[in-house]
Amino acid sequence: MNNRTLLNIAKEFGSPVYVYDADTIINQYKRLTSAFSKVNNLKINYAVKALSNISVLKLFNSLGSGIDTVSIQEVQLGLRAGFKPENIIFTPNGVSLEEIENVAKLGVQINIDNLSILEQFGTKYPNIPVCIRINPHVMAGGNTNISVGHIDSKFGISIHQIPLLLRIVENTGMHINGIHMHTGSDILDIDVFLYASEILFETAKNFKNLDFIDFGSGFKVPYKSDDIETNIEELGKKLSKRFNEFCKSYGKDLTLAFEPGKFLVSEAGVFLAKVNVVKQTTSTVFAQVDSGFNHLIRPMLYGSQHDILNISNPKGRERFYSVVGYICETDTFANNRRINEINQGDILCFKNAGAYCYSMASNYNSRYRPAEVLVYKGEAHLIRKRETFEDILNNQLEIAI
Ligand SMILES: *Cc1c(COP(=O)(O)O)cnc(C)c1O
Repeated sequence: MNNRTLLNIAKEFGSPVYVYDADTIINQYKRLTSAFSKVNNLKINYAVKALSNISVLKLFNSLGSGIDTVSIQEVQLGLRAGFKPENIIFTPNGVSLEEIENVAKLGVQINIDNLSILEQFGTKYPNIPVCIRINPHVMAGGNTNISVGHIDSKFGISIHQIPLLLRIVENTGMHINGIHMHTGSDILDIDVFLYASEILFETAKNFKNLDFIDFGSGFKVPYKSDDIETNIEELGKKLSKRFNEFCKSYGKDLTLAFEPGKFLVSEAGVFLAKVNVVKQTTSTVFAQVDSGFNHLIRPMLYGSQHDILNISNPKGRERFYSVVGYICETDTFANNRRINEINQGDILCFKNAGAYCYSMASNYNSRYRPAEVLVYKGEAHLIRKRETFEDILNNQLEIAI
């Protein structure tokens, strides 16, 4: 998507607006599947929570992807987008037994991450196959060290509780058909990831009737120039080889599953916002845009750095700007960043805005959530209308006062 295309989109659909490029999503999907082409059964389950627009979900369905969901609402969105229940995995944390039962009734693969629900579910429905989420307690420490961490993470069943888990499975007679891990940390060092995978293989040996092993996600994409990107090709080569060996010793061709969000959609998205005010103070030049953390919270929530380009004046002299928003709260997108000269009315383009951006937007300050546009087969399609005042009032009740 070049600057002209983006400026036209901002003109046609207004600002602020999220724009996603379908070709980039398709390329990332293909990169991942070709890295694992040596595995007989590969399943990519796109993590819906990264970007959950129904048109984006339909794009993934057309690619042959499945989806990873964390709420029954995401399951329902996926079904509406045309996914078959068997191509959906439900990986919640801390949800009620009732919600899990309701999702299971839809025919969706259940993934359980605690012993209490596992026992209750297994007792009630011994015939519904269940995947279990394991916490291998592995995370990267330093450059090459492998350290044991996340011991207090709320996610997954600790590997130290495997004996207890096995007792529950035996007592209930339930069928475990998948083993899963998702540590949530970035895969920077492939050997650390392979080390965690070994723990998963070791755990898998306890179950005789598996269909798949799900390695979660953690694929890192670069946000700024010196960021490390997960070497997908190297990971694909090494893990595929090891996975195929495991299948041979296990005596069955299992499915290798992944559930990336960020890797598939982050770089496909940009966020366009218009500069309302350029404000010079004694120490700083602020560029204030028609947005804030109500639309893009990652810089404030995680300290993540999104590159910002002035697409209205890409050849302008570079100056230092702090890019901030218009809500009544500190909402700093960037501190003293070198950007081409900014004038009032310019459109700024925030990069890597595909994942965890729109899906985390809110109505704080009673502002409308932005529009979303998908560029698909060379054409810009509006895939979500900008909100209106009706949306702000929706569900509010006025009582007599
Ligand atoms: C959020 C999530 C993912 C996706 O993580 P990314 O870092 O976006 O790839 C995968 N699996 C589960 C269970 C998740 O909660």
